[in-house]
Amino acid sequence: MLAELKSKIGSVRLIAVSKKQSPESIRGLYAQGQRVFGENYVQELQEKAQALADLPDLHWVYIGVLQSNKIKRVAQWAQEVQTLSSPREASLLAQSLRGYGKTQLPVYICVNLGDEPQKGGVDLQGVPDLARFIQESCPELALQGLMAIPPQAMSDEAHRTGKPPEAYLRLRELAKVTGAGKLSLGMSSDYEAAILAGATDIRIGTALFGKRPYT
Ligand SMILES: *Cc1c(COP(=O)(O)O)cnc(C)c1O
Repeated sequence: MLAELKSKIGSVRLIAVSKKQSPESIRGLYAQGQRVFGENYVQELQEKAQALADLPDLHWVYIGVLQSNKIKRVAQWAQEVQTLSSPREASLLAQSLRGYGKTQLPVYICVNLGDEPQKGGVDLQGVPDLARFIQESCPELALQGLMAIPPQAMSDEAHRTGKPPEAYLRLRELAKVTGAGKLSLGMSSDYEAAILAGATDIRIGTALFGKRPYT
């Protein structure tokens, strides 16, 4: 499945979302050349990073909620963070990184594309201020661009029509002028539309690993 997916997505970066998947299945993809893996839970990230410490060049991307009491462990184990939503999270992450002597951690601002209260992220209007804060006040962080988890209805529409919804295109325009201009958008069900909309990174779980074994 990896080779087929890679041939479809060309130069777009593939983040293999390994939440709820075993270290053995991660080894399986690693053996096929995959190096970038995404995790949502700090405890799982730490356990897997430790279990797989023998694999060189593994790159862990944290894509979960940044609870303030867990940010330190994120700083310890992740090589990249895509879910920054506030100046406070950025400051705490930067401060923790400083403690580990780490600098220039790649980060993305997480956008709440449908203003869904149950999801984290800033709205599109909030992006420039947070971007400025990260760039001016957090030298430990290297801002790459934007990440979004669109509302279900929006990704369903993208899937059904095969075309990027209007909101994806607005997101892309803003991503272009944020940090290094990257856009992390698209999951198993809507990555084709996300790539059409200009995604530079896609985050794929089930389409790579199959269904998650437990939730
Ligand atoms: C779980 C998850 C994914 C992957 O979802 P799939 O539908 O399994 O591809 C991508 N991004 C985030 C933030 C996730 O939590």
